[in-house]
Amino acid sequence: MRPQSPLGGSASPKAFGARVLLSCLDCHHYHSMALEAVIKRLQDHGLGDERTGIKAVAIFVSRPCPRCGGWRFDTRPDFPEDAGAVGA
Ligand SMILES: [Zn+2]
Repeated sequence: MRPQSPLGGSASPKAFGARVLLSCLDCHHYHSMALEAVIKRLQDHGLGDERTGIKAVAIFVSRPCPRCGGWRFDTRPDFPEDAGAVGA
């Protein structure tokens, strides 16, 4: 994926219930967050908006990993239209 993919994309992914996968780099625990909630948090804190690069979201995580307590995360889109392209 493109690291600078805007959260909002060009086709209003919020309409599709798009989600963001936040994964811990240390223990690989991950969870999916609603994109809408992520954007709202960015806006609430004045940190960005739907045009913020998705990779930047990892910097704004406000809680440590629930499994290992780590603070290093990676993010990637969990958009429905990508479901067949991930190859996981
Ligand atoms: Zn972890």
